[in-house]
Amino acid sequence: MAKSVLILGSGLGALSTALRLSDKGYAVKIVEKQSRAGGRLHILEKDGYTFDVGPSFFSMSYEFKELFESVGEPIPFELNELNPLYTVNIAGQDRVFQMHKDLTKLAKEFEGIEDDFEAKARGYLAGAKSIFHDTEYRVVKKNFDSILHYLLGMAKVPIKHLPKMFRSFWAELERHFESEEVKIIFSLVAFFLGATPFNTPSVYNLLNYTELQYDGYWNVKGGMYNIVKGMLPLLEARGVQFQYNCEIVAAEYSGKKMTGLRDAAGNLHTADLYVINADAASFRGQFLGRKKFSEAKLDAMDWTLAPFTIYLGVKGKIPGIHHHNYFLGNNFRDYADTIFRSSVAPEKPYYYVNVASKSNPNCAPEGCENLFILCPVPDMRVKPDWSDAKTLAQGIIEDLGERVGYDIASNIESKTIYTPVDWASMFNLYRGSGLGLAHGMNQIGAFRPANKDEELNNVYYVGASTVPGTGLPIVVIGSRLVTERIQDEHSIV
Ligand SMILES: Cc1cc2nc3c(=O)[nH]c(=O)nc-3n(C[C@H](O)[C@H](O)[C@H](O)COP(=O)(O)OP(=O)(O)OC[C@H]3O[C@@H](n4cnc5c(N)ncnc54)[C@H](O)[C@@H]3O)c2cc1C
Repeated sequence: MAKSVLILGSGLGALSTALRLSDKGYAVKIVEKQSRAGGRLHILEKDGYTFDVGPSFFSMSYEFKELFESVGEPIPFELNELNPLYTVNIAGQDRVFQMHKDLTKLAKEFEGIEDDFEAKARGYLAGAKSIFHDTEYRVVKKNFDSILHYLLGMAKVPIKHLPKMFRSFWAELERHFESEEVKIIFSLVAFFLGATPFNTPSVYNLLNYTELQYDGYWNVKGGMYNIVKGMLPLLEARGVQFQYNCEIVAAEYSGKKMTGLRDAAGNLHTADLYVINADAASFRGQFLGRKKFSEAKLDAMDWTLAPFTIYLGVKGKIPGIHHHNYFLGNNFRDYADTIFRSSVAPEKPYYYVNVASKSNPNCAPEGCENLFILCPVPDMRVKPDWSDAKTLAQGIIEDLGERVGYDIASNIESKTIYTPVDWASMFNLYRGSGLGLAHGMNQIGAFRPANKDEELNNVYYVGASTVPGTGLPIVVIGSRLVTERIQDEHSIV
């Protein structure tokens, strides 16, 4: 008999899980507080412009292929490989670094800065490749039932990688490169894991292999929200039901079973099984009253930086900017040391700019650009007050205008700002942390909140703060892991 599954939230992890489960015959219903699906993978339509609200690109595109192949469907959106991957502007330097997958081409970007770049990069990436393939199936794409089970999995990773567990991301780069520029650019990815390259374990250098060699970076033709738009008909065809504008405010349980989720209007939503796509750590504390996830314990955990995002519709075509751009200052180490801890907005912020209209003209009126600016900032534990949002945004817009040589400020036709407070309230992100729990060695694998509840045997989790971790392809992997668990433990007979 078909088992019913209620999924709380409609982020990418939820949609992917719903697709896999409904394809296998489970009767799935999704409840979502927003008025549309996608979670952080959201869309903003305003003043004739269309913006991707959160993610703007991803690596490991093959995880999407696996997802749709597993349900016998072609990918319902068009993937677009980024070339160059992104550009990096460092304050005070005239040259703009364009990051290419082709290492010979990339070497030209670092001419006069890093001698023998190509040979050094090949050596560096060979090490990153080896750890990626040695951990992919042994650790990342695997369910663990206990810490012991996890440690046994880790023990199968070749011993040669052991020093990488203790070295920092930056220290690994220092073993291969001399110039600050190469080290800074190759270490930017560490910020997305929730820490700085100075305290992120060096194993994560494997991400540079997935991006620079293995798979590259991708986005979606017509905008990232086409991922969601493409998935919805497949879900509807498999009977998945959606209830939007439905905020869950309490969980009910008895013995070892969850008995329902109550919404703000007082309705009780029930099912045989529950999959929680809200944050896996804070849900346990706030809805299930677990001591291990009390507010004090949650605040003591390591969280990824919060997003400060600006969405600009700009009249005219901006010349000195590409599709994906990083704008950095010239005090990298100091900035990295203080950005997580400072209760005031950064004076000279580092930020990322995505100009989707460069490759997708439909998202801005003719002759105009749409800009998405993301400035990673401290979360609300450190800086709860964002009344200075306009000043920070103004500073970024002026800095960007100067650096690309275009008067952006005078040509703005549409402007929206989301502070960490907005992000927290829109998607229930704990303290406004943008990517959920960080990925230090004490918060991954069996040390991360599990995808199966510790006490309630009909409750599972999927999404950024459970295993394996955050990012679009990673939550898609998470959907496979949780589906495997549900099928093993609650198969349809
Ligand atoms: C600004 C920003 C930029 C990013 N850029 C990238 C990128 O370029 N590439 C990349 O790979 N990743 C990126 N990420 C990370 C990526 O967006 C996330 O890892 C991923 O989308 C998380 O998906 P999820 O399954 O955890 O669901 P979420 O997106 O967290 O969705 C959870 C859903 O649950 C709903 N919900 C929560 N609580 C309740 C409740 N009580 N009642 C009802 N509904 C509830 C929320 O409204 C939300 O819709 C970015 C994130 C941010 C914030």
